[in-house]
Amino acid sequence: MRLEGPWLRAAEGAMLLGPDGVPAPTVFAEMSALAAATGAINLGQGFPDEDGPREVLEAAVQAIRDGANQYPPGRGIPDLRAAIAEHQARWYGLDVDPDREVLVTAGATEALAATLLALVEPGDEVITFEPFYDAYGALVRLAGGTHVTVPLTAPDFLPDETTLRAAFSDRTRVVLVNTPHNPTGRVLPPEVLRTVVELAEQYDAVVVTDEVYEHLTFATPHVPIATLPGARDRTVTISSAGKTFSTTGWKIGWLTAPLALVDAITTVKQFLTFVNGSPFQPAVAAGLRLPTEVFTGIAATLAAKHELLADGLRRAGFDVMRPDGGYFVIADAAPLGFADAREFCLALPGRVGVVGVPVSAFVRPDHQSGYRSLVRFAFCKQRPVLEDAAARLAALTPTA
Ligand SMILES: *Cc1c(COP(=O)(O)O)cnc(C)c1O
Repeated sequence: MRLEGPWLRAAEGAMLLGPDGVPAPTVFAEMSALAAATGAINLGQGFPDEDGPREVLEAAVQAIRDGANQYPPGRGIPDLRAAIAEHQARWYGLDVDPDREVLVTAGATEALAATLLALVEPGDEVITFEPFYDAYGALVRLAGGTHVTVPLTAPDFLPDETTLRAAFSDRTRVVLVNTPHNPTGRVLPPEVLRTVVELAEQYDAVVVTDEVYEHLTFATPHVPIATLPGARDRTVTISSAGKTFSTTGWKIGWLTAPLALVDAITTVKQFLTFVNGSPFQPAVAAGLRLPTEVFTGIAATLAAKHELLADGLRRAGFDVMRPDGGYFVIADAAPLGFADAREFCLALPGRVGVVGVPVSAFVRPDHQSGYRSLVRFAFCKQRPVLEDAAARLAALTPTA
Protein backbone atom coordinates (compact mmCIF):
# COMPACT_ATOMS: atom_id res chain seq x y z
CA MET A 1 0.00 0.00 0.00
CA ARG A 2 1.24 3.45 -0.94
CA LEU A 3 1.57 5.75 2.07
CA GLU A 4 2.96 8.94 0.56
CA GLY A 5 0.58 11.86 0.62
CA PRO A 6 0.01 15.42 1.78
CA TRP A 7 0.71 14.34 5.35
CA LEU A 8 4.40 14.17 4.46
CA ARG A 9 4.31 17.84 3.42
CA ALA A 10 2.63 18.63 6.76
CA ALA A 11 5.38 16.80 8.64
CA GLU A 12 8.01 18.59 6.61
CA GLY A 13 6.32 21.97 7.19
CA ALA A 14 6.35 21.34 10.94
CA MET A 15 10.04 20.41 10.69
CA LEU A 16 9.45 16.79 11.64
CA LEU A 17 11.06 15.08 8.63
CA GLY A 18 14.29 13.38 9.59
CA PRO A 19 17.24 13.09 7.18
CA ASP A 20 15.87 9.66 6.17
CA GLY A 21 12.60 11.30 5.05
CA VAL A 22 10.71 9.63 7.89
CA PRO A 23 8.63 11.86 10.21
CA ALA A 24 9.96 12.00 13.75
CA PRO A 25 7.78 12.56 16.84
CA THR A 26 7.47 16.24 17.81
CA VAL A 27 10.07 17.55 20.23
CA PHE A 28 7.19 18.15 22.68
CA ALA A 29 6.22 14.47 22.62
CA GLU A 30 9.89 13.48 22.88
CA MET A 31 10.59 15.76 25.84
CA SER A 32 7.30 14.91 27.61
CA ALA A 33 8.16 11.20 27.31
CA LEU A 34 11.57 11.98 28.79
CA ALA A 35 9.92 13.90 31.65
CA ALA A 36 7.59 10.96 32.34
CA ALA A 37 10.45 8.44 32.21
CA THR A 38 12.75 10.42 34.53
CA GLY A 39 10.17 12.07 36.82
CA ALA A 40 11.52 15.46 35.76
CA ILE A 41 9.48 18.69 36.05
CA ASN A 42 7.97 19.26 32.62
CA LEU A 43 8.39 22.88 31.56
CA GLY A 44 8.41 21.77 27.94
CA GLN A 45 4.77 21.83 26.91
CA GLY A 46 2.62 24.94 27.43
CA PHE A 47 -0.39 23.82 29.40
CA PRO A 48 -1.35 25.03 32.90
CA ASP A 49 -1.29 22.55 35.80
CA GLU A 50 -4.12 24.20 37.76
CA ASP A 51 -7.71 25.16 36.98
CA GLY A 52 -8.84 28.56 35.77
CA PRO A 53 -11.83 30.62 37.00
CA ARG A 54 -14.42 28.55 38.92
CA GLU A 55 -17.33 30.37 37.26
CA VAL A 56 -16.20 29.07 33.88
CA LEU A 57 -15.82 25.47 35.07
CA GLU A 58 -19.15 25.53 36.92
CA ALA A 59 -20.93 26.93 33.86
CA ALA A 60 -19.78 23.90 31.82
CA VAL A 61 -20.99 21.45 34.49
CA GLN A 62 -24.32 23.28 34.63
CA ALA A 63 -24.61 23.28 30.82
CA ILE A 64 -24.23 19.49 30.73
CA ARG A 65 -26.92 19.15 33.44
CA ASP A 66 -29.14 21.52 31.44
CA GLY A 67 -28.86 19.30 28.37
CA ALA A 68 -26.38 21.16 26.14
CA ASN A 69 -25.18 17.80 24.85
CA GLN A 70 -26.12 17.71 21.17
CA TYR A 71 -24.72 19.42 18.05
CA PRO A 72 -24.63 23.19 18.55
CA PRO A 73 -25.32 25.52 15.58
CA GLY A 74 -22.60 25.43 12.90
CA ARG A 75 -21.26 28.93 13.58
CA GLY A 76 -21.44 28.50 17.37
CA ILE A 77 -24.26 29.10 19.86
CA PRO A 78 -25.73 32.62 19.59
CA ASP A 79 -24.82 33.43 23.22
CA LEU A 80 -21.11 32.71 22.64
CA ARG A 81 -21.07 34.64 19.36
CA ALA A 82 -22.68 37.57 21.22
CA ALA A 83 -20.12 37.29 24.04
CA ILE A 84 -17.25 37.29 21.51
CA ALA A 85 -18.64 40.43 19.83
CA GLU A 86 -19.12 42.10 23.26
CA HIS A 87 -15.54 41.15 24.18
CA GLN A 88 -14.10 42.72 21.01
CA ALA A 89 -16.07 45.93 21.68
CA ARG A 90 -15.26 46.10 25.40
CA TRP A 91 -11.52 45.47 25.15
CA TYR A 92 -10.63 46.91 21.76
CA GLY A 93 -13.51 49.12 20.58
CA LEU A 94 -14.04 46.78 17.61
CA ASP A 95 -17.55 46.62 16.17
CA VAL A 96 -18.29 42.99 15.22
CA ASP A 97 -21.65 41.60 14.06
CA PRO A 98 -22.24 38.45 16.17
CA ASP A 99 -24.48 36.85 13.52
CA ARG A 100 -22.36 37.52 10.44
CA GLU A 101 -18.77 38.14 11.49
CA VAL A 102 -18.04 35.45 14.11
CA LEU A 103 -17.24 31.75 13.76
CA VAL A 104 -16.69 29.42 16.74
CA THR A 105 -14.09 26.71 16.06
CA ALA A 106 -12.42 23.68 17.65
CA GLY A 107 -9.66 25.75 19.23
CA ALA A 108 -7.50 28.33 17.52
CA THR A 109 -5.94 25.39 15.68
CA GLU A 110 -9.09 24.66 13.67
CA ALA A 111 -9.58 28.37 12.98
CA LEU A 112 -6.06 28.47 11.53
CA ALA A 113 -6.56 25.25 9.57
CA ALA A 114 -9.93 26.23 8.10
CA THR A 115 -8.64 29.71 7.20
CA LEU A 116 -5.51 28.49 5.42
CA LEU A 117 -7.32 25.61 3.67
CA ALA A 118 -10.02 28.05 2.55
CA LEU A 119 -7.70 30.73 1.18
CA VAL A 120 -4.40 29.21 0.05
CA GLU A 121 -4.02 27.74 -3.44
CA PRO A 122 -0.99 25.69 -4.53
CA GLY A 123 1.78 28.16 -5.33
CA ASP A 124 0.45 30.88 -3.03
CA GLU A 125 2.85 32.20 -0.43
CA VAL A 126 2.09 32.54 3.27
CA ILE A 127 4.36 34.76 5.36
CA THR A 128 5.00 34.17 9.07
CA PHE A 129 7.68 35.28 11.45
CA GLU A 130 10.25 32.67 12.51
CA PRO A 131 10.58 30.99 15.06
CA PHE A 132 6.97 29.89 14.41
CA TYR A 133 4.33 27.71 16.07
CA ASP A 134 4.70 24.29 14.41
CA ALA A 135 1.09 24.12 13.18
CA TYR A 136 1.70 27.10 10.87
CA GLY A 137 4.32 25.28 8.85
CA ALA A 138 2.24 22.10 8.70
CA LEU A 139 -0.99 23.83 7.64
CA VAL A 140 0.59 26.05 4.99
CA ARG A 141 2.14 22.99 3.37
CA LEU A 142 -1.03 20.91 3.74
CA ALA A 143 -2.87 23.66 1.85
CA GLY A 144 -0.22 23.40 -0.87
CA GLY A 145 1.22 26.82 -0.10
CA THR A 146 4.80 27.99 0.15
CA HIS A 147 5.90 29.11 3.61
CA VAL A 148 7.97 32.31 3.58
CA THR A 149 9.48 33.37 6.91
CA VAL A 150 10.86 36.58 8.38
CA PRO A 151 13.32 36.04 11.25
CA LEU A 152 12.85 37.43 14.75
CA THR A 153 16.39 37.50 16.05
CA ALA A 154 17.77 37.47 19.59
CA PRO A 155 18.14 39.35 21.85
CA ASP A 156 15.05 41.49 21.16
CA PHE A 157 13.22 39.19 18.69
CA LEU A 158 12.06 42.00 16.42
CA PRO A 159 11.92 41.73 12.61
CA ASP A 160 14.14 43.80 10.34
CA GLU A 161 11.91 46.12 8.32
CA THR A 162 13.78 45.65 5.03
CA THR A 163 13.55 41.86 5.38
CA LEU A 164 9.85 42.11 6.19
CA ARG A 165 9.20 44.25 3.09
CA ALA A 166 11.26 41.90 0.91
CA ALA A 167 9.18 38.88 2.02
CA PHE A 168 6.06 40.23 0.28
CA SER A 169 5.40 39.65 -3.41
CA ASP A 170 2.52 39.25 -5.85
CA ARG A 171 2.36 35.61 -4.76
CA THR A 172 1.67 36.55 -1.11
CA ARG A 173 -1.84 35.35 -0.24
CA VAL A 174 -1.77 35.46 3.57
CA VAL A 175 0.43 37.07 6.21
CA LEU A 176 -0.04 35.21 9.50
CA VAL A 177 0.98 37.16 12.60
CA ASN A 178 1.13 35.79 16.14
CA THR A 179 1.23 38.39 18.92
CA PRO A 180 1.93 37.93 21.82
CA HIS A 181 4.33 35.54 20.15
CA ASN A 182 5.03 31.88 20.93
CA PRO A 183 7.86 30.96 21.57
CA THR A 184 9.62 34.33 22.07
CA GLY A 185 7.02 36.07 24.28
CA ARG A 186 7.39 39.22 22.18
CA VAL A 187 4.43 41.58 21.79
CA LEU A 188 5.04 42.98 18.31
CA PRO A 189 5.21 46.78 18.44
CA PRO A 190 2.56 48.89 16.64
CA GLU A 191 5.02 50.06 13.97
CA VAL A 192 5.67 46.45 12.91
CA LEU A 193 1.94 45.75 12.80
CA ARG A 194 1.35 48.90 10.76
CA THR A 195 4.01 47.83 8.25
CA VAL A 196 2.32 44.41 7.96
CA VAL A 197 -1.03 46.07 7.21
CA GLU A 198 0.51 48.50 4.71
CA LEU A 199 2.21 45.61 2.84
CA ALA A 200 -0.95 43.45 2.96
CA GLU A 201 -2.88 46.31 1.34
CA GLN A 202 -0.17 46.87 -1.26
CA TYR A 203 -0.07 43.19 -2.26
CA ASP A 204 -3.77 42.47 -1.61
CA ALA A 205 -3.00 39.80 1.01
CA VAL A 206 -5.26 38.61 3.83
CA VAL A 207 -3.97 39.26 7.35
CA VAL A 208 -4.54 36.34 9.72
CA THR A 209 -3.74 36.97 13.38
CA ASP A 210 -3.22 34.45 16.16
CA GLU A 211 -4.05 36.26 19.40
CA VAL A 212 -4.46 33.30 21.78
CA TYR A 213 -2.29 35.10 24.40
CA GLU A 214 -4.22 38.40 24.08
CA HIS A 215 -5.02 38.58 27.81
CA LEU A 216 -1.66 37.33 29.03
CA THR A 217 0.52 40.41 28.57
CA PHE A 218 2.67 41.74 31.41
CA ALA A 219 3.19 45.43 30.66
CA THR A 220 2.17 46.36 27.12
CA PRO A 221 -1.57 46.01 26.47
CA HIS A 222 -2.54 43.82 23.51
CA VAL A 223 -3.37 45.64 20.26
CA PRO A 224 -5.32 43.55 17.73
CA ILE A 225 -4.18 44.23 14.18
CA ALA A 226 -7.85 44.61 13.17
CA THR A 227 -7.92 47.93 15.10
CA LEU A 228 -5.27 49.49 12.83
CA PRO A 229 -6.35 51.75 9.94
CA GLY A 230 -7.07 49.75 6.79
CA ALA A 231 -6.83 46.38 8.54
CA ARG A 232 -10.35 45.39 9.51
CA ASP A 233 -11.63 44.59 6.00
CA ARG A 234 -8.81 42.14 5.24
CA THR A 235 -8.13 40.63 8.66
CA VAL A 236 -9.13 37.29 10.19
CA THR A 237 -8.66 37.63 13.98
CA ILE A 238 -8.22 34.31 15.77
CA SER A 239 -8.29 33.60 19.49
CA SER A 240 -9.17 30.85 21.94
CA ALA A 241 -10.38 30.24 25.49
CA GLY A 242 -7.67 27.66 26.22
CA LYS A 243 -4.81 29.91 27.30
CA THR A 244 -6.87 32.70 28.94
CA PHE A 245 -9.03 30.45 31.12
CA SER A 246 -6.61 27.51 31.55
CA THR A 247 -8.97 25.24 29.62
CA THR A 248 -6.63 24.00 26.89
CA GLY A 249 -8.44 20.65 26.73
CA TRP A 250 -11.80 22.21 25.87
CA LYS A 251 -10.71 23.38 22.42
CA ILE A 252 -13.07 26.31 22.08
CA GLY A 253 -11.64 28.92 19.72
CA TRP A 254 -13.13 31.54 17.42
CA LEU A 255 -12.44 33.94 14.64
CA THR A 256 -13.87 37.32 13.69
CA ALA A 257 -13.64 38.63 10.13
CA PRO A 258 -15.73 40.37 7.46
CA LEU A 259 -18.74 38.32 6.33
CA ALA A 260 -17.28 37.15 2.99
CA LEU A 261 -14.23 35.70 4.75
CA VAL A 262 -16.33 34.11 7.51
CA ASP A 263 -18.54 32.48 4.86
CA ALA A 264 -15.53 31.11 2.97
CA ILE A 265 -13.86 29.75 6.10
CA THR A 266 -17.13 28.28 7.43
CA THR A 267 -17.49 26.31 4.20
CA VAL A 268 -14.26 24.47 5.07
CA LYS A 269 -14.80 24.34 8.83
CA GLN A 270 -18.12 22.50 8.46
CA PHE A 271 -16.29 19.58 6.83
CA LEU A 272 -13.46 19.49 9.37
CA THR A 273 -15.27 19.21 12.72
CA PHE A 274 -18.70 20.63 11.71
CA VAL A 275 -19.15 21.68 15.38
CA ASN A 276 -17.66 20.94 18.79
CA GLY A 277 -17.89 21.42 22.54
CA SER A 278 -21.56 22.31 23.04
CA PRO A 279 -21.44 22.45 26.89
CA PHE A 280 -18.18 24.40 26.77
CA GLN A 281 -19.54 27.12 24.52
CA PRO A 282 -21.88 28.68 27.15
CA ALA A 283 -19.09 28.34 29.73
CA VAL A 284 -16.67 30.30 27.54
CA ALA A 285 -19.41 32.92 26.96
CA ALA A 286 -19.61 33.31 30.75
CA GLY A 287 -15.81 33.56 30.91
CA LEU A 288 -15.60 36.28 28.28
CA ARG A 289 -18.12 38.34 30.29
CA LEU A 290 -16.15 38.09 33.56
CA PRO A 291 -15.17 41.43 35.14
CA THR A 292 -11.99 43.14 33.96
CA GLU A 293 -10.24 42.40 37.30
CA VAL A 294 -10.44 38.67 36.60
CA PHE A 295 -8.50 39.11 33.35
CA THR A 296 -5.93 41.49 34.85
CA GLY A 297 -5.59 39.10 37.81
CA ILE A 298 -4.84 36.17 35.49
CA ALA A 299 -2.14 38.23 33.73
CA ALA A 300 -0.65 39.48 37.03
CA THR A 301 -0.45 35.94 38.45
CA LEU A 302 1.30 34.76 35.31
CA ALA A 303 3.71 37.73 35.34
CA ALA A 304 4.72 36.84 38.91
CA LYS A 305 5.29 33.22 37.87
CA HIS A 306 7.48 34.46 35.03
CA GLU A 307 9.61 36.46 37.52
CA LEU A 308 9.98 33.40 39.72
CA LEU A 309 11.26 31.17 36.94
CA ALA A 310 13.34 33.88 35.22
CA ASP A 311 15.13 34.65 38.52
CA GLY A 312 15.95 30.97 38.95
CA LEU A 313 17.24 30.72 35.37
CA ARG A 314 19.41 33.83 35.84
CA ARG A 315 20.84 32.51 39.11
CA ALA A 316 21.65 29.25 37.31
CA GLY A 317 23.74 31.25 34.82
CA PHE A 318 21.44 31.48 31.76
CA ASP A 319 21.03 34.66 29.74
CA VAL A 320 17.29 35.24 30.05
CA MET A 321 15.21 37.19 27.53
CA ARG A 322 12.30 39.09 29.05
CA PRO A 323 8.94 38.10 27.48
CA ASP A 324 6.16 40.71 27.09
CA GLY A 325 3.48 38.07 27.59
CA GLY A 326 2.40 34.46 27.08
CA TYR A 327 3.42 31.22 28.76
CA PHE A 328 7.13 31.03 27.91
CA VAL A 329 10.57 32.42 28.65
CA ILE A 330 13.61 31.92 26.44
CA ALA A 331 16.95 31.26 28.09
CA ASP A 332 20.34 31.05 26.41
CA ALA A 333 22.37 28.05 27.60
CA ALA A 334 25.59 29.32 25.94
CA PRO A 335 26.92 31.05 29.11
CA LEU A 336 26.67 27.63 30.81
CA GLY A 337 28.88 26.13 28.14
CA PHE A 338 26.16 24.58 25.99
CA ALA A 339 26.18 25.55 22.32
CA ASP A 340 23.46 23.04 21.31
CA ALA A 341 20.13 23.46 23.11
CA ARG A 342 18.80 20.18 21.75
CA GLU A 343 21.64 18.18 23.33
CA PHE A 344 21.26 20.28 26.44
CA CYS A 345 17.51 19.58 26.67
CA LEU A 346 18.07 15.85 26.20
CA ALA A 347 20.60 15.86 29.06
CA LEU A 348 18.76 18.26 31.40
CA PRO A 349 16.19 15.78 32.86
CA GLY A 350 18.99 13.38 33.84
CA ARG A 351 21.22 16.13 35.22
CA VAL A 352 18.80 18.22 37.29
CA GLY A 353 15.29 16.87 36.64
CA VAL A 354 13.84 19.67 34.51
CA VAL A 355 12.50 19.57 30.94
CA GLY A 356 12.59 22.46 28.45
CA VAL A 357 12.41 22.50 24.65
CA PRO A 358 15.03 23.78 22.22
CA VAL A 359 13.94 26.87 20.25
CA SER A 360 15.45 25.13 17.22
CA ALA A 361 12.20 23.09 17.10
CA PHE A 362 10.44 26.31 15.99
CA VAL A 363 13.03 27.15 13.32
CA ARG A 364 13.69 25.53 9.93
CA PRO A 365 16.78 23.32 9.62
CA ASP A 366 18.46 25.83 7.27
CA HIS A 367 17.70 28.83 9.51
CA GLN A 368 19.13 27.52 12.79
CA SER A 369 21.98 29.99 13.08
CA GLY A 370 21.39 32.36 16.00
CA TYR A 371 18.91 30.03 17.75
CA ARG A 372 21.06 26.97 18.48
CA SER A 373 21.71 27.54 22.19
CA LEU A 374 18.23 28.86 23.10
CA VAL A 375 15.80 26.92 25.31
CA ARG A 376 12.09 27.60 25.87
CA PHE A 377 10.70 27.04 29.37
CA ALA A 378 6.98 27.23 30.27
CA PHE A 379 6.06 29.11 33.46
CA CYS A 380 2.28 28.41 33.38
CA LYS A 381 2.73 26.05 36.34
CA GLN A 382 1.94 26.19 40.07
CA ARG A 383 4.34 28.34 42.12
CA PRO A 384 5.75 25.41 44.18
CA VAL A 385 6.54 23.59 40.92
CA LEU A 386 8.39 26.63 39.57
CA GLU A 387 10.23 27.12 42.89
CA ASP A 388 11.31 23.48 42.77
CA ALA A 389 12.39 23.84 39.11
CA ALA A 390 14.38 27.02 39.92
CA ALA A 391 16.14 25.26 42.79
CA ARG A 392 16.97 22.27 40.59
CA LEU A 393 18.30 24.49 37.78
CA ALA A 394 20.56 26.27 40.29
CA ALA A 395 22.43 22.97 40.64
CA LEU A 396 23.67 23.34 37.04
CA THR A 397 27.32 24.24 37.02
CA PRO A 398 29.14 25.67 34.00
CA THR A 399 30.88 22.91 32.10
CA ALA A 400 33.05 25.06 29.84
C1 LIG B 1 -1.64 27.07 22.10
C2 LIG B 1 -1.55 27.81 20.80
C3 LIG B 1 -2.51 27.61 19.79
C4 LIG B 1 -3.57 26.55 19.87
O1 LIG B 1 -4.72 26.99 20.46
P1 LIG B 1 -5.94 25.95 20.66
O2 LIG B 1 -7.07 26.83 21.04
O3 LIG B 1 -5.54 25.00 21.73
O4 LIG B 1 -6.15 25.26 19.36
C5 LIG B 1 -2.43 28.39 18.66
N1 LIG B 1 -1.45 29.29 18.50
C6 LIG B 1 -0.50 29.48 19.44
C7 LIG B 1 0.57 30.48 19.19
C8 LIG B 1 -0.50 28.74 20.61
O5 LIG B 1 0.47 28.90 21.52
